[in-house]
Amino acid sequence: MLSFSHTGLPARIVFGRGAQAQAGAEIERLGAKRALVLSTPQQSQEAEALASALGSMCAGVFSGAAMHTPVEVTAKALEVYEQSNADCVVALGGGSTTGLGKALAARTGAAQVVIPTTYAGSEVTPILGETKDGLKTTRRGPEILPETVIYDPELTDTLPQVLSITSGLNAMAHAAEGVYAQDGSPIFTLMAVEGLRALRDALPAIAAKPSDRDGRDLALYGAWLCGTVLGGVGMSIHHKLCHTLGGSLDLPHAETHAILLPHTIAFVEAAKPDVLAPVASLFGGRAGAGLHAFAKKLGAPQSLADLGVKEADLDRMSEQATANPYWCPRPLEREAIRNLLQRALVGDAPE
Ligand code: NAD
Repeated sequence: MLSFSHTGLPARIVFGRGAQAQAGAEIERLGAKRALVLSTPQQSQEAEALASALGSMCAGVFSGAAMHTPVEVTAKALEVYEQSNADCVVALGGGSTTGLGKALAARTGAAQVVIPTTYAGSEVTPILGETKDGLKTTRRGPEILPETVIYDPELTDTLPQVLSITSGLNAMAHAAEGVYAQDGSPIFTLMAVEGLRALRDALPAIAAKPSDRDGRDLALYGAWLCGTVLGGVGMSIHHKLCHTLGGSLDLPHAETHAILLPHTIAFVEAAKPDVLAPVASLFGGRAGAGLHAFAKKLGAPQSLADLGVKEADLDRMSEQATANPYWCPRPLEREAIRNLLQRALVGDAPE
C-alpha cells in the first residue's frame, strides 16, 4: 500500500559556473541591502574578493567561522553584524560557515544567501548544530533554512582532493539514509537516488583529476540533492552514530561519515534489503559492500583508529548510541552496534 506525506522546503537555488557573480542580485531579490560576508580564516581571501565585488552592498567581512558553530564565535560575529548595520548574511564556505550564517539568522532574523564550497549540504537544511562548553546541541526551524543558495562549482575546484572525497561521501550518507527514513517520500527517494548516482559518477573523476570540471559540476549537483534529502526527512542510525562518536570523541565531521557509511548501510541492509535495493543497484548489487568498495577505491579513510578512536571507547559509544536511538528500520541492538564499530575501528569491510 502506498501512503506518504511530503513537505518540500522553500529554498531558491541558483546553479552554474560563475554564479557567484549573481550574489548582489540575489541579495536585492531578498529585499536586503547590506550583507555581512562570512567565511573561515582559511577562505578569507575569497570572502574579501566577494566583498569587493559586492561593493556598497557589503557591510563587512567576518572570517572567523569554525567547525561545529561554537557560540563564542557566533557572539563575536553578532557584534560585527550589529555594528556594521548589516541586514543579511552571505556565507561563503563549507558547513562550518553555513552554520555561522544560520546561527546569526536564528538570532537576528537575517536573510541568508549561502555560497557552498564543499558537499556538506547544510545550506539546504533547517538544522543548526551549535557547541557550548564542549556540548553540541541541534535544533530545527524554518528561520534556520537559508533563503537562497548559489551553487558555483568554480569555487569547489580548490577543494583539496581528500576533503572532496570525504565531503562527497558525507553527502552520500544523507541520501542513503533518506531512502529508509520513517518520514521519507517518493520525491525524496528520487532525489536521493539521483544524488547518489551523481556522486558515484563524479567522485572517481575528481579523485583522478581534482580540477575535472564536469566532475566538479556533477558532484555539487549531487550534493544539493543529497542535502535536500537531509533537510526534508529524519535521519537514522548512520547520523546517530556519527553524532555520538563525533560529539563525544571530537572527531572530524566528513571523515567520520565517510568511514561509517558502508557499515551503517550494511547494518540496515541486512534486515531490510528491499528498502535499500535502489542504492544496491547503483553499487553492484549490494549497498553496504558496494559503498565500501567504492570508498576504498577512492582512497577514502577506512578506519576509525586513524582518527584516534581507541578500542576502549567502543563499549561507551555503543551504550550511548543505543540508549537514546533515532528511529531505525532495524532495532539498534547494543552487541550488533559494538560489532559494527569494531569493524569500522580497524577498517574491515562491513559484515
Ligand atoms: P568545513 O566547512 O569545516 O570546511 C573544512 C575546511 O575546508 C575549512 O578550513 C574550509 O575553509 C575549507 N574549505 C571549504 N571549502 C573549500 C574549498 N572549496 N577550497 C579550499 N578550502 C575549502 O567542512 P564541512 O565538512 O563542509 O562542514 C562541517 C560542518 O558542517 C560541521 O560543523 C557539521 O556539523 C556541519 N554540517 C551541518 C549540517 C546541517 O544540516 N546542519 C549538514 C552537514 C554539515
